[in-house]
Amino acid sequence: MAHAVTLIRGDGTGPELIEAGRRVLEATGVQFEWDVVEAGVDAMEQYGTPLPENVLDSMRRTHVAWKAPITTPIGTGFRSVNVAFRKEFDLYANVRPAKTYKGVRSRYENIDLVLIRENTEDLYAGIEFEEGKPETVELVNWIRSKQPKAVIREPVGISIKPISIPGTERIVRFAFEYAVKNNRKKVTAVTKANIMKFTDGLFLAVAKDVSKSYPGIAYEEMLVDNMCMQLVQKPELYDVLVLPNLYGDILSDLCAGLVGGLGVAPGANIGDNGAMFEAVHGSAPKYKGQNKVNPMALILSGMLMLRYLDENDAADRLEKAVSAVVAEGKSVTYDMKPDRNDPTAVGTSQMADAIIAKLQGK
Ligand code: NAD
Repeated sequence: MAHAVTLIRGDGTGPELIEAGRRVLEATGVQFEWDVVEAGVDAMEQYGTPLPENVLDSMRRTHVAWKAPITTPIGTGFRSVNVAFRKEFDLYANVRPAKTYKGVRSRYENIDLVLIRENTEDLYAGIEFEEGKPETVELVNWIRSKQPKAVIREPVGISIKPISIPGTERIVRFAFEYAVKNNRKKVTAVTKANIMKFTDGLFLAVAKDVSKSYPGIAYEEMLVDNMCMQLVQKPELYDVLVLPNLYGDILSDLCAGLVGGLGVAPGANIGDNGAMFEAVHGSAPKYKGQNKVNPMALILSGMLMLRYLDENDAADRLEKAVSAVVAEGKSVTYDMKPDRNDPTAVGTSQMADAIIAKLQGK
């Protein structure tokens, strides 16, 4: 049976990347029923909004979206496409694998970890009090009445960090289920629970509790500052990391940096009712229409989608084909060549062709 997938073409280099990626995914032999929709600055010209309602409608029907990069229009007041999707479908888990591939420039070898970031709570919940506003002054007075020793100088801006039991329970459970499904051995919960006892401490207590339901998976706890050092010194020791929103945001870029940068990093936003897959990089608009940029991150996000759709055999074959092309280093885009001006670099579509040839055993 064909998988119905909402295919969001994006803008900038998005359309050429997703076109190349689509050919690669189809070459795995998996059947797709693509619902091709437009979002981003090109859609804005056509529909007057970067996120036309038919895009959300499509995802309400398919529950799975594969998204090309989208330029975020600055200062137009339009809502971010990613935020709208995350809220509409409660995509609470951000999944970012970080893996070293031979041929991709990195100082490290043998890294194969997956970072799972809570996507909805923490300091990103949007609960902020601006310096000088009456409600901020009122809040400060209230805090002082409850906690006379609290250090608050004025004028002051305040952000609130909510971390809930249900929000933590579902992200930690997601991390353990991910570990079970993907044959992973260990989950590390990362917090600053020694300082923030009622938020990070709660996250840790819930994580410990959830871990007891998964005796087959090792569980460990790490403070976020130590985690940063451990990742830089011995990243190969880590497997699945689960983190509250802010630490997850920061460490996911750190992990991408360990394995070759944002240009090769795939990502997924997953909830109980749907999922959206994308490259971590942006729309690189200066290269638009030049058939130049690297399709690897978007194609690897397609591999994550295949796994989500339980097409594990196709996902394995696809990953093998991508890593073979990258390891050979012949049919790769300019950014993967030691010299970025190397005239033998190929274009987006030719790199996709090389991956397709590998998939076909050529
Ligand atoms: P970017 O990731 O688009 O580009 C930064 C630089 O990285 C580019 O100039 C290019 O040299 C390189 N690069 C990026 N992708 C590449 C690829 N596939 N192959 C080779 N080189 C690549 O970041 P930016 O310039 O800061 O952002 C451009 C636009 O994209 C902004 O509007 C931003 O908001 C948006 N953005 C969207 C997403 C998304 O849709 N998920 C993510 C990040 C940024």
